[in-house]
Amino acid sequence: METPNRIRRRTFFKTCGLAFVGMGLPEKSIATKNIDVTNALQVDVNRLSSQELPCIKKQVDYVVVGGGVAGVCSAITAARAGLKVVLIQDRPVLGGNASSEVRLWVLGATSHMGNNNRWAREGGVLDELIVENIYRNKEGNPIFFDALLLEKVWAEPNISLLLNTAVYAIEMDGPNQVGKVIAFCSQNSTQYEIGASYFCDTSGDGIVGFLAGAAFRVGAEKGDVFGEKFILPDDYGKLLGHSMYFYSKDAGHPVKYVAPAFALKDIEEKVPRYKDIQRDSSGCRLWWLEWGDDLDHVFESEKIKDELWRVVYGVWDYIKNSGKFKDVENLTLEWVSTIPGKRESRRFEGDYVLKQQDIIEQKNFEDAIAYGGWAIDLHPGAGVYSNYPGCTQYHSKGVYTIPYRSIYSRNITNLFFGGRLISVSHIAFGSTRVIATGTLCAQAAALAAVICKKNNISPKEVYSKGFVKKLQMDLMQTGHYIPCIKLENEDDLALKGKIFLSDFLRLSELPEDGTWRSLKNDIGMLLPLGKGKIPEFTFTVKAEEATTLDFEFYVSSRLGNYTPDICLSKKNYSIEKGVSSVRVKYGVSLKEEQYGLVVVKKKENVSVAQSNVRLTGVLSLFQGRIQKKDDKYGVDEIPFYTPERRPGGKNLAIKIAPALDRFGLSQLQTGVFRPANGNVNAWVAPLYCKTARLECRWNAVQVIKRIILWFDLDYDHAMESCLMGHPESIMPFCIQHYKIKDDSGHIIYEVTENHQAKNEICLHNGIRTNSLTVELYQTSPHIPISLFGMQVFK
Ligand SMILES: Cc1cc2nc3c(=O)[nH]c(=O)nc-3n(C[C@H](O)[C@H](O)[C@H](O)COP(=O)(O)OP(=O)(O)OC[C@H]3O[C@@H](n4cnc5c(N)ncnc54)[C@H](O)[C@@H]3O)c2cc1C
Repeated sequence: METPNRIRRRTFFKTCGLAFVGMGLPEKSIATKNIDVTNALQVDVNRLSSQELPCIKKQVDYVVVGGGVAGVCSAITAARAGLKVVLIQDRPVLGGNASSEVRLWVLGATSHMGNNNRWAREGGVLDELIVENIYRNKEGNPIFFDALLLEKVWAEPNISLLLNTAVYAIEMDGPNQVGKVIAFCSQNSTQYEIGASYFCDTSGDGIVGFLAGAAFRVGAEKGDVFGEKFILPDDYGKLLGHSMYFYSKDAGHPVKYVAPAFALKDIEEKVPRYKDIQRDSSGCRLWWLEWGDDLDHVFESEKIKDELWRVVYGVWDYIKNSGKFKDVENLTLEWVSTIPGKRESRRFEGDYVLKQQDIIEQKNFEDAIAYGGWAIDLHPGAGVYSNYPGCTQYHSKGVYTIPYRSIYSRNITNLFFGGRLISVSHIAFGSTRVIATGTLCAQAAALAAVICKKNNISPKEVYSKGFVKKLQMDLMQTGHYIPCIKLENEDDLALKGKIFLSDFLRLSELPEDGTWRSLKNDIGMLLPLGKGKIPEFTFTVKAEEATTLDFEFYVSSRLGNYTPDICLSKKNYSIEKGVSSVRVKYGVSLKEEQYGLVVVKKKENVSVAQSNVRLTGVLSLFQGRIQKKDDKYGVDEIPFYTPERRPGGKNLAIKIAPALDRFGLSQLQTGVFRPANGNVNAWVAPLYCKTARLECRWNAVQVIKRIILWFDLDYDHAMESCLMGHPESIMPFCIQHYKIKDDSGHIIYEVTENHQAKNEICLHNGIRTNSLTVELYQTSPHIPISLFGMQVFK
């Protein structure tokens, strides 16, 4: 029976202690009507009488508050695992800071490929979305990314999505448990009361955590709190600021610009970095149009936004009207953000607070569920007005792990955190805050909630009752990567069968079929090497006159890292004028299988031959800057060797004797679906194979209902979601065409246009066979066929 229910705002305020902001609601009380809904959160307008606002109530398993990328991926991950989910987003579009409203690119450990974290792009639902975005939208139009997120959320029958709906209150079920969230949609004048067993706060500012009384931290800690050393001066500021972006375009005809009266004047006087303003600046490249100072980054956020509007319109006035820039007559402002990109506000406390040392020392947590790899990147609070550089950044030597204990509240029993809310110190936050890293945590929260529901336990008990290994395995099975963890799935029939490969690569040569590359800087080949004596390497060089050439051989001090911080050998060879071959004998042995960097040192007037062949698990790297060791700040010296983006970054032509035997069967069933831990973790066929076959045979007939193939989607490529374009819409290593056949040679599945890493094939009625053959077709004559893994399930 429907009974009009008058809900007094004061009731909510008592529960949450929050002022009601910006809803345009009547001052005193709201008359609402309770409506029971089953699936869609829709109002039957015929059931409303006048003077009433509807109030929709629903109980689900998992409520995600905040539809940024973290919230979206958490909701999808949970929904696919069977939870009934409500995703609540206060804005008209999904994506948060990565949406077309703010236009940040999604990044994480790959960090624009500007560090030593190789093959570090985040996996799981996030990677599916990012890969799909590049496939549809390699030019990086942020509007298409909005639509993609919406499509993916709408595709999940287990998710009810509420857009334009802000959570502003909660009701507790007891002192430490969230019972329901209360939200209002300004567009349909409807109130929602959504109860759940578990909540995930991915709202950026932590509305649920704040209202529930979850312990949180704000601003920079003093050094003695966590024993951290990267402590900046007091006048540096305590929080990273908000930023605001604009896009400009050439209108094709002169366009005048009259700045609004509030636009900032005297840019050269007020903005110390005014020389960084470029005619073509737009979007993420304006990250330093930042401000926040010592204001409250939640409650004074509108004030910060207003100041940033002054800055944005003032900067544009400077570009258009100062006379300091050429060719600006036809330029016009195409878009200015209406909400600021928020970097930092609250950080909630879990049972573990991640700190600087964990990042720099790359601590391996046994309860690791995610990882990061962005630099510890702090910004002065005064931002655009500061005399400090726009940011201070320090990298670790490789990726670091994030423990499960950092993604749930230490004092609220059913509350998870994702995105930038996780339990970290301000300094660690400098790294974990980036979208892809926070999203991994939110994906982990989703599958932890699945375990909680199944076992009727709290988030804390997932750790204390020994469910973390299960969580790690569940995450890995979705394609989510966790360093040093291998997927073990005893239901995988492929592990019980016998695998036959048509052939596999013994890497003896990357042919000399490319252009010459001048040795203007050191160039290295990152190669997966075996235990024992390393091979001899032959390069082809071209010198304008007879000279000598230096070669070095590096490994990393830690297995799984790619920072070349141990030089095992240096060699010097004389070379003749003209083209010649140099055979480099390092005479070095390795104690374990690991990646090594074979470096040709820079030399004027000398070039080295390149190859057009690209290959899974092998990369050319180019020497970049060096991060200086700084004991005061507790950071290491790091030489950077980074890849170039395609079409650059060709491999060097190289002969390897004896050939590298690291691409065969033993690399196929490692439980890791990307190069990692010194292994390629892929079967790679010889280059000449246009087709390659993998057969899995069992002693008895199997009934097979599900097959998963894991392809190489180039986890080294940073897939910025907007602004920055990409050379291809499908990663060149990806197998696009394959067939799967049963024991009678009958094709049970064929795809001709695959562009995703994880291909999950569901055979609803199951097939009976005692073998499966996967036939893979080469996509490019310059790239050998490869496969990271095949799993088969009943
Ligand atoms: C200028 C700038 C540059 C940055 N550079 C990068 C970069 O290059 N790469 C990168 O990966 N990261 C970058 N970051 C960091 C990154 O943008 C954030 O840390 C990241 O967006 C955090 O993700 P999130 O999902 O936690 O939050 P958000 O993306 O902010 O998403 C939170 C969502 O919750 C919604 N929400 C808030 N309150 C409520 C409520 N009460 N009810 C319902 N919904 C609510 C918000 O509208 C928002 O959509 C940058 C940040 C800024 C500001």
